[in-house]
Formats: sequence, structure tokens, C-alpha cells
Amino acid sequence: MLFGGLEAGGTKMVMAVADGDMRILERKTIPTASPKETAGEIIAFFRGFPLDALGIGSFGPLDLNAASPTYGQITQTPKLAWRNYPLLPELRDALGVPCALDTDVNAAALCEAEAGAAKGLNCCVYVTVGTGIGAGVYCEGKLVHGLMHPEWGHLILRPHEEDPMPRGVCPYHPGCLEGLASGPSMEKRWDVPARELPEEHIGWRIEAHYLAQLCVTALMTVSPQKIILGGGVMHQEKLFPLIREETARLINGYLPFAEKLDDLIVPPLCYPDSGLIGALLLAKRAMKKA
Ligand code: ADP
Ligand code: ZN
Repeated sequence: MLFGGLEAGGTKMVMAVADGDMRILERKTIPTASPKETAGEIIAFFRGFPLDALGIGSFGPLDLNAASPTYGQITQTPKLAWRNYPLLPELRDALGVPCALDTDVNAAALCEAEAGAAKGLNCCVYVTVGTGIGAGVYCEGKLVHGLMHPEWGHLILRPHEEDPMPRGVCPYHPGCLEGLASGPSMEKRWDVPARELPEEHIGWRIEAHYLAQLCVTALMTVSPQKIILGGGVMHQEKLFPLIREETARLINGYLPFAEKLDDLIVPPLCYPDSGLIGALLLAKRAMKKA
């Protein structure tokens, strides 16, 4: 068995080939350029292997409705060259093997649920806090899709009282999670890259306040057994205790989990490969389905 996995990001494409036990045999990273050029390189890489299936975890938004005429396209992305690009059909037609597409964060949630921080559990949420914010939701063994897929990055939040930039930076929504808590929003608010913000800076408490609202929303909606927080900004390990403390404060005793938050709000176990391994697991599912 040979599976291909593609983690399609706005800045880079990470490709891998793995055996049936999900051991990665080959991998390659290329920058994300124009769709034509980039897809050509992806196809050339995967054509070098007798693949049984391909899985793709991609930046979005995506059309994931199998009944839609535009199924498998990237839709409203701000990366204009990629808007309406038929990612799944292009790769499927070129490679001629079963292919599956999901969001990068759903793929990461699948990886963490099957092989990582949520292994053995039946419900988890994976969140990336990086250039953007996105969440994947895994419940009862399935990745959640509905009309399209979860878009928790654009949850509308209550501003922190001391936030000098309560409108955030999202061009669509004042006060949404991504606009208030992504890496670029921190940089805009404080005029320094997030990684250079001093240890005791109020910016970390404000960041934790927003990510805690995300955690509370997760707990109140899908009731996950793990909330897995990954992405560049979460390299700041000091955020975890701040987020747990603020989550407990916001829950205010309503849910009986206050002492369990150390175990509930955690970093990914497969970082930085959660999305890539998730794409390989999507390939395995695509082959079984076919
Ligand atoms: P992407 O979201 O583009 O896939 P990342 O998850 O690495 O990539 O996120 C990049 C963002 O994370 C940038 O805005 C950067 O400022 C921020 N970031 C990266 N490393 C750190 C760090 N160690 N501390 C704080 N912020 C970081
Ligand atoms: Zn938004």
C-alpha cells in the first residue's frame, strides 16, 4: 500500500508518501506559487510513486459538498489566484487514484484523534493559531461537515476591556477570533512580531482571553474531550496556563471541568506534521471507500 498526502497551505505545499502503516517514506516541500505551476510540481512528485490513494488537507474555504457542481474547489480565499481553483478534480484527474479533500484543520484533527493527543477519544477539536485561525472538529469517528465545514476562525467575540484594537484585522468581521488573535493581529496591535512581545506584556493576557472564548465555545457546543491548540502562536507555551485559567473564569463553575482543563486544553502531539499525517489518513479512508 502507498498513500500520498498533501498539506496545501497558503505559503507552502508539503507532500509525503507513506506505506500502509503510515510510515513516511518520502517528503517534499515547495512554495505555493500560481495554481498551474504549483499543481504541476505536485502532480510530478506524486507520479513518481504507484499510489493507491491521495489525501489532501487544504487551506480554504472549500466546497466539500459532494453533490455540488463545484465540489472540491477552493472558494472565497483571499489568495486570488487560487479562488475557485478545482484542487481535488485537478489532482484526481491527473493521478487517476481515489482522492479525498478536507480542510487542513480537519485533517489535523483526524491525525490527533487517530494517532495523537486525542487518540482513543471520540470527540476533539483541533485549532491552529497562526497566520489565520481555523478549527477542525472530529466527532463520533467522523470529521464534521455540514453546509461546508466549521469556520471557527470567524467566531464573533466579546472584546477585552483593555484591547487597544478591539475591531481586529479581519476584512469581513469586526471583532472576530482571527481578526483579534491571529499572529498578524498581534503584530498589528503591538507593532512587534508576536514572538518578540515581552513575557509579562498584557498582550498575552488579551490573547489568552480570546482563545479562552474559543475554548468555552467549543465546550458549550461540541463538548470535545480534547481541545488541541497548535500553530505558530502556540509555540508560546506560557499561553496554555493563561488560556486554561481564563477558560475556567469564563465557565464560572457552570461545567464541572475547572480542575480538568490541564488535560483538556493541550498542544498537538504530532506537531508540526498533524496536517500532513491527517492528509495521509484521508488517503487511507479514500481507498477504503473506493
Ligand atoms: P501558517 O499559519 O502560515 O501556516 P504558522 O502556524 O507558523 O504558519 O503561523 C505563523 C504566525 O505565527 C505568524 O503570524 C507568526 O508571527 C506567529 N508565530 C510563529 N512563531 C511564533 C512564536 N514562536 N511565538 C509567537 N508567534 C509566533
Ligand atoms: Zn472574520
